[in-house]
Amino acid sequence: MSVMNSIKQLWGGAVEIFEWLRAGGNVVTFKEAQWRTNVCNTCSKNVEVGKLKLFIAWFVRKSLELKNRTNLRTRDAGSLGQCQDCGCVLRILVLEPQDRIEPFLTDGDRGRLPSFCWKLKKP
Ligand code: SF4
Repeated sequence: MSVMNSIKQLWGGAVEIFEWLRAGGNVVTFKEAQWRTNVCNTCSKNVEVGKLKLFIAWFVRKSLELKNRTNLRTRDAGSLGQCQDCGCVLRILVLEPQDRIEPFLTDGDRGRLPSFCWKLKKP
């Protein structure tokens, strides 16, 4: 991925997270987040993530925990990196409500994702 694409991806992710927090920061149930974590941990698109993104993700998770008044760290979250397909940090993505993700997937996205990917689930 080029540097320009990486910057665009980082910026797009930051805007999306800001919008999510601004809209109330609702998260999926812990059971759903754990299931997603388990799925991603078996997927070859779960790839290594940089320290900066992980640091930002930690702050985002803490903000979501404050808003939702609960611990949001799933079991084995330490094995989650970033999704190779969208570049999102999986520790955060597994918490995001399906109706914020699924409607925005393009046909191209759907074609690239493995059939077992939870992002393909209807909200
Ligand atoms: S493609 Fe789907 S299952 Fe695989 S790492 Fe990305 S979000 Fe997880």
